[in-house]
Amino acid sequence: MEQPICLVGIGKIAVDQHVPAIAGSPDWTLAATVSRAGSVPGVPSFDDFDAMLAERADIRTISLCLPPVPRFDYAAKAIAAGRNVMLEKPPGAALAQVHALQAMADEAGVTLYATWHSRMAKGVAAAKAFLAEKDVTAAHIDWKEDVRRWHPNQEWVFEPGGMGVFDPGINALSILTEILPAPVHLKKAVLRFPENRQTPIAADLWFSGGVTAAFDWLKQGEQVWEMTIQAGDDQVRLLEGGNVCVINGRAVDGTVLDEYPALYHRMARLVHDRAVDVDLAPMVHVADALTLGRREIVAPFVF
Ligand code: NAP
Repeated sequence: MEQPICLVGIGKIAVDQHVPAIAGSPDWTLAATVSRAGSVPGVPSFDDFDAMLAERADIRTISLCLPPVPRFDYAAKAIAAGRNVMLEKPPGAALAQVHALQAMADEAGVTLYATWHSRMAKGVAAAKAFLAEKDVTAAHIDWKEDVRRWHPNQEWVFEPGGMGVFDPGINALSILTEILPAPVHLKKAVLRFPENRQTPIAADLWFSGGVTAAFDWLKQGEQVWEMTIQAGDDQVRLLEGGNVCVINGRAVDGTVLDEYPALYHRMARLVHDRAVDVDLAPMVHVADALTLGRREIVAPFVF
């Protein structure tokens, strides 16, 4: 049966992914939006979050599509009002914020789901299953895209808390931390900051276990979201953001649902089970990179 859900922050990802995923879901009906400016045709819209919480007691679940810095206050209010909450990635601007939300959700007995959409990419489950009993000997990630194409004029990504190239890079790290059979830790990082910006536009990372990553946000032409994991003689490749899995040279069947439909399917199960799903492993690696990383200043960036 479909349950009413409210979307907060009608921006790029809400329009591109959340609205169509909810429209196609057997579990959810988009019953309201909260936005300072936008709306979804045919859906009641509020410009005040408190008013929505007060007036729509029937809506028990809120999906927050805001950037990470403003998201915390909305999440805290929603939990305090007894609502289940779904967080876009990254789940917060700081780790302790998410720990706080988790404690609030536990206390209130509501569901909190820190989503990682890339973990739902179609090839990820097969890669994880294949690697489960293996000793990983090396891995490399290339996550290289054009920020102007994917985040046009989104100034927040270059402000403190916006994470810069780690905004897409954390998607790769969410896959890595899902599929590796044993955790790795960061040993060294080089971060490239445009001289006029607060967050990096490129990064190279070296982890334990022979795992490396190269993130670039100025890639023109073909966009690259790939990783290769070596386990002795066995090789797993994840291509197209994790949607294609190639094991020892052969493409294997992937999961059925697209990433955002799979997230909403999981949210329905979590709400049914009154469960919390918060895994901060990808964000720990980003925080470590920002702690350990050597900083290089590069050319200024303008959209
Ligand atoms: P966005 O379009 O720049 O912003 C989303 C919406 O958040 C805005 O339209 C605005 O909604 C609201 N908002 C922005 N700043 C706010 C503030 N200071 N206070 C209150 N509301 C504010 O960003 P986005 O690309 O959708 O990204 C949102 C989240 O989704 C990020 O965490 C991002 O990492 C994640 N994500 C993005 C993509 C992508 O391809 N863009 C992909 C996957 C995940 P209203 O105008 O409606 O108030």
